[in-house]
Amino acid sequence: MNLTPTQADRAIGALLASAAGDALGAGYEFGPPLPDDQPVHMAGGGSFGWEPGEWTDDTSMAVPIAQVLADGGSLDDEASLDRVVAAWAGWARTAKDVGVQTRTLLTTLRTPTAAAARASAAAFYAANPRGAGGNGTLMRTGPVALGYLDDGQEAALVSAARAVSDITHADPDAGDACVLWSTAIRHAVRESDIDLTAQLVWLPEERRDRWAALIAEAEASQPADFDKNGWVVQALQGAWSAIHHGTGLVDVLERAVRGGRDTDTVAAIAGALAGAAHGAGAVPDAWREKLHGWPGLDADGLADLAVRAVGHGAAGRPDQPGTAG
Ligand SMILES: [Mg+2]
Repeated sequence: MNLTPTQADRAIGALLASAAGDALGAGYEFGPPLPDDQPVHMAGGGSFGWEPGEWTDDTSMAVPIAQVLADGGSLDDEASLDRVVAAWAGWARTAKDVGVQTRTLLTTLRTPTAAAARASAAAFYAANPRGAGGNGTLMRTGPVALGYLDDGQEAALVSAARAVSDITHADPDAGDACVLWSTAIRHAVRESDIDLTAQLVWLPEERRDRWAALIAEAEASQPADFDKNGWVVQALQGAWSAIHHGTGLVDVLERAVRGGRDTDTVAAIAGALAGAAHGAGAVPDAWREKLHGWPGLDADGLADLAVRAVGHGAAGRPDQPGTAG
């Protein structure tokens, strides 16, 4: 679609601020909650020995999704989803960190196709109905919305967000969380406004009340209260709590990291939505200069990817004059 310059900045922000949250939290992963006044630094380290500014699996798994959109693909197209799965399988062979559920799935596929991954994810959910709701799809949902920013594309986005989630996680909680977050990101890029509750209408009717209560609980709590944030529900709640209580992008990401445990993922999730509202311009230069990660991209590379993903989302390119449509 044709974006205004500020909308284009916000679309880039969805990707860049998510990567910034990821890299900010990387050194604190698995750690306890931190006091409100403790400074948070993008210094790397942590259990996996990250370089300062290096992003982790959250951003690495988001990149192939953005690449499909940037190349003009559609996320409701099985061949495109195959491409995403093949890229993830290649990444997982050398990645320092792959989430438990995702690693099990990607390393046991005989052929790295979306159908094979989906079947494996469904079998895992059937065998582990209470243990298949990891946060590994919400963490990478940021770019999905970039392909569906045009007028009237909400329903297509809802379907794409769930389809991309279902590849690795069959628990409906994972798909619901991705639908809520992706539609909120779309709204934020278009309107510079964050409204999660308004997105409840995109969920199956029988599950809306539960999610409304979970959102309200997040608003009445702090990120550290969600200490099971490896679960997609609490990861969303921790990220939403950071956004709800935060003032500005940096504060949101620092709050997410201070919540402890799965710090990089909660901050990556928070960054995708907060960045879509505050824009890439809100990412500090000091962070931007350090950001890098698989597959050999830096902040400028991510920004370029976001611009191309948006440009192919519908007719028109973001560098052409035009109004939000
Ligand atoms: Mg991570």
